[in-house]
Amino acid sequence: MKKGKKLYEGKAKIIYATTDKNLVIQYFKDDATAFNNQKKSIIEGKGVLNNRISEYILSNLSQIGIKNHLIKRLNMREQVIKLVEIIPIEFIVRNVATGSITKRLGIEDGTVLKEPLIEYCLKNDALGDPLISEEHIYAFEWANKNEIEKVKKMILRINDFMIGMFRGIGIKLIDFKLEFGRVKNNGKNEIILADEISPDTCRLWDSLTDKKLDKDRFRKDLGDLIPAYTEVAKRLGILHEQSNVTAVNVTKLSSVKKKSK
Ligand code: UDP
Repeated sequence: MKKGKKLYEGKAKIIYATTDKNLVIQYFKDDATAFNNQKKSIIEGKGVLNNRISEYILSNLSQIGIKNHLIKRLNMREQVIKLVEIIPIEFIVRNVATGSITKRLGIEDGTVLKEPLIEYCLKNDALGDPLISEEHIYAFEWANKNEIEKVKKMILRINDFMIGMFRGIGIKLIDFKLEFGRVKNNGKNEIILADEISPDTCRLWDSLTDKKLDKDRFRKDLGDLIPAYTEVAKRLGILHEQSNVTAVNVTKLSSVKKKSK
């Protein structure tokens, strides 16, 4: 498969065309951004880890029947995915209250929710991804009722699966963000999971110590982001226990791969 021209560049990923009009290549950058792009940095090796972690989670979700855009990982930083029409909504799923909801509603940090809570944010950087209600989605036709009902069912299954998967490796799934897209399947629109699922888009706390193993290490200047993401990858069994992956090692690995192509 040949990589074509750049179609879109986002904060953490780039999308390239391919020779197949239905498929694109998703490239994971090392750029880290937070607070609506006000805080920026490059963290060497982050893209490599997110590519592997997201591949692992999405392929496991396929195995339980959650359709998603992943076709296959190509190399250290790239994966082939289905081209979808992204629904312009960020679906936030919360099991424990932390981050923006605690400030917005005055909820104590770490409050365990009785049921998973789904929040909707409009995907619009210029507006700072504002929180919206389900009624806004229908009023402005960002998605229809049927689509949102399907998405909600998928979200609850994804959440159940991921809570169990992470619990098994000593990690609490606090909250995460999902995106969905439309694809044509035999002339009919179908909704599939898109984007990425990684420590950039989830909050992951160590079950015993509550140590943050996610992008909050960058947001809150806690440092050691690469060791935390590496820890998640190792516990998932993606990286072997003995491989001491540091930012430098990850970069070396990615350049070795490039040379060997
Ligand atoms: N999230 C994300 N991208 C966004 C906004 C949120 O991946 O543009 C994820 C975030 O990593 C966290 C969850 O969604 O796992 C809930 O985020 P919250 O609204 O608390 O965001 P904050 O403003 O605290 O970053």
